Amino acid sequence: MKNLWNDTDAAQYTTDLDLRVYTSRLLGQDPSLVLHGGGNTSVKITETNLLGDRLDILYVKGSGWDLETIEAAGFPPVKLDHLLRLAQLPTLSDPDMVNELRCNMLDAAAPTPSVEAILHAALPYKFVDHTHADAVVTITNTPEGRQRIADVYGDRVVVIAYVMPGFDLARVVAEQFAQQAHQGTIGMVLMNHGIFSFADTAKQSYNRMIDLVQMAEDYLAANNAWQLTDPAPLSNAAECRLDLAILRKDLSLAKGSAMILNQRNDPRARAFAASDGVKVLSQQGPATPDHVIRTKQRPMIGRDVASYGEAYQDYFAANASTEHRILDRAPRVILDKDLGLLTTGNNIKEANIIGDIYCHTVEIIQRATALSQWQALPDEDIFAVEYWVLEQAKLSKGSSAPAFNGEIALVTGAASGIGKACVDRLLSQGAAVVGLDINPVISDLYSRSDFLGIQCDVTDTNALKDALERTGRAYGGLDMLILNAGMFPAGRTIAELDDDLWNQVMQVNLNANLSLMREAHPLLKLAPNQGRVVIIGSKNVSAPGPGAAAYSASKAALNQLARVAALEWAADGIRINSVHPDAVFDTGLWTEEVLQARADHYAMSVHDYKTKNLLKTEISSADVAKLAVSMLGKLYAKTTGAQVPIDGGNDRVV
Ligand code: ZN
Repeated sequence: MKNLWNDTDAAQYTTDLDLRVYTSRLLGQDPSLVLHGGGNTSVKITETNLLGDRLDILYVKGSGWDLETIEAAGFPPVKLDHLLRLAQLPTLSDPDMVNELRCNMLDAAAPTPSVEAILHAALPYKFVDHTHADAVVTITNTPEGRQRIADVYGDRVVVIAYVMPGFDLARVVAEQFAQQAHQGTIGMVLMNHGIFSFADTAKQSYNRMIDLVQMAEDYLAANNAWQLTDPAPLSNAAECRLDLAILRKDLSLAKGSAMILNQRNDPRARAFAASDGVKVLSQQGPATPDHVIRTKQRPMIGRDVASYGEAYQDYFAANASTEHRILDRAPRVILDKDLGLLTTGNNIKEANIIGDIYCHTVEIIQRATALSQWQALPDEDIFAVEYWVLEQAKLSKGSSAPAFNGEIALVTGAASGIGKACVDRLLSQGAAVVGLDINPVISDLYSRSDFLGIQCDVTDTNALKDALERTGRAYGGLDMLILNAGMFPAGRTIAELDDDLWNQVMQVNLNANLSLMREAHPLLKLAPNQGRVVIIGSKNVSAPGPGAAAYSASKAALNQLARVAALEWAADGIRINSVHPDAVFDTGLWTEEVLQARADHYAMSVHDYKTKNLLKTEISSADVAKLAVSMLGKLYAKTTGAQVPIDGGNDRVV
């Protein structure tokens, strides 16, 4: 364990609440302590209200906040006395508990307090820190875990047998803690769940957490259960994009909506997925109960989604009572001997969170096995958390899903102009986007998990195949394709047009698109909501210009290619439509000087030149992207083989 406390940093935090923020973030920075919203912290402060009354207040982590990035606003203030009285009740339903918590806050705008608020109140210390430390849950998830925890900590910690989080746990802790705690108590272990530390200062409570977890790590090390053998390095030699796309389609059908499927680049998880023991070791509950809402109760081994669904149905039937309604039957974690660890989600962020959780779970399982035997909670306890209304509420927050949630788009010529505008629009509507461009800036165009920029010469078919392979591994398949990459050579009459230039234009504007369409077709065919293609054509298709023979001919041929594809691919449910833009001047091709030169050529002002169309309007890359992306959406669900101009109206075309 690394103690991240830094006196200089800490000095900037003066109030108790500020220090609470500081050490909460320190905990949040260490994924071996808490992952993605796990864990919670609190501080008890006495304050004077507007009427001059002195009040004891519990500031406790609010739901929806992550310890790593929490701020003071993430700690709703709750009346401590009221929480302590609630802890004495024999029972309290979940809706009543949430209502009590909300009604006894001192800030109407604060987030809902953690469901562990009453537990935090019941611990008689100013600062309370709670994590799901890997090392501690490793030891508690073994058959003789309780004895081992006693071996590690002696009587420094109070140990509480597993109770489901929420009011019942708070009540049990309120009762048992008082009986067991003494002067030397510095923490509390909740079996199969996690650990608490506490103290009068933020620093001491944090230090105790680090020390306690270090003791657990030392214990594992002393029992040859800390250092894991290094797995063999990853080899991604065999192509697997089609296998992934088939699996993603099955998963999406089981879920009832398009899912992202990510192949995790983690050698240990890959080796675990291929190991003999995986069938037994992976088929128990999660390392700590709240992981279940992300990961489901167990991973799927192999690719038989239907069988997984049946087993999930059985698990539901065995544990449900009448008020429960079954959730979707799709797995979130998949362990396949060839494909390794795969995770799914409504978007890549979710799939990555699940991947992070499962990579930690693999280490926890392996260390517990090295120590003695991995033994997670039984199904009934996991079910109770999975189907706990308060946990389900965490997932359903954030209302309607964006239009392309769970879907994947690939855009060529994506580093600038119309291509980049398409990327932006697709990202804003929830798609994961792969951008190809010959310009190396594409790789760093955006640093976000839902964007993958690949430098790629589209005339190199192997490079295209490689890009599709990376798309499959990152996101699981391909739903949408925007063919935008193209070149517009300087004007040249047919009399001056040499073969090389002609061939080069045909290569980029026509042949490359054929190659990509051919290679993408098997993936588009497997798109859960059917495949869609949009071609960025040109006004030149119907109204060519002198001096642009190669460009006009290439775009006209591409147009025919799209029309034939619409005929051939309709049987596969794939729609392909074209947009024909004209005079889009906010692209890399058009510098101020070129624009001025063209305007001079026609004896026009730049403004008149830019708007020389029937509607006298300017057309931007974003306008074209808006239309192109609409064509990928529901509005065009029943249209294929269409060609829509976006040119402000052209008297040669209308
Ligand atoms: Zn917890």
